[in-house]
Amino acid sequence: MPGGRPRIYTPEEAKRRKAAQRKAWNLKNADRMAAWTKAWQEANRERIKENRKKYMALEENRAAAREADKAWRKANPDKVREMKRLARHRNPEKERAKRAARKARNPETERLAQQRRWVSMNRRNPEKVWARKMLQRAVDAGRAVRQPCSVCGDPKSHGHHANYRRPLDVVWLCSKHHLEEHRRIDAEKASEDLFG
Ligand SMILES: [Zn+2]
Ligand SMILES: [Zn+2]
Repeated sequence: MPGGRPRIYTPEEAKRRKAAQRKAWNLKNADRMAAWTKAWQEANRERIKENRKKYMALEENRAAAREADKAWRKANPDKVREMKRLARHRNPEKERAKRAARKARNPETERLAQQRRWVSMNRRNPEKVWARKMLQRAVDAGRAVRQPCSVCGDPKSHGHHANYRRPLDVVWLCSKHHLEEHRRIDAEKASEDLFG
């Protein structure tokens, strides 16, 4: 400070200044802090697991954890949806088994759920709906001819679009092979999302 005497802080002020400095440092070094935390967690994985086990041994703690989980899920619907999506892609077999079990338990409920998924998927993909409509119109007018499944030859086929902006450019696939193709595309997309 040119000319001025060094400022003297009261203990209260000094404490507040120090806290503010620490906070600013933490903010500036958030990445480094996160890396430290992660490294510590990795080095202490067993210890964390043991502690968690001890904590979860008590019913009241389990109930609190369930509540906290529920609250977090409610506050982060996008993250929950993304987590579920990734889990489905990581383990499609499990997902299929779960769905089949649900269907066996209550076929009507599962049929309605499937219908809701279909409607919401269509709502989220208007270009898909448009392409399907254009294709159907072309088939009805004789401008396109339905072909048997290009994999197994099943005459009951859907037109699969690689690009919805080219509605008549389709590969004909039966429902089984169509589903397989979409699973393959989804898995490819999910791994792209994960690994860039
Ligand atoms: Zn087929
Ligand atoms: Zn398709």
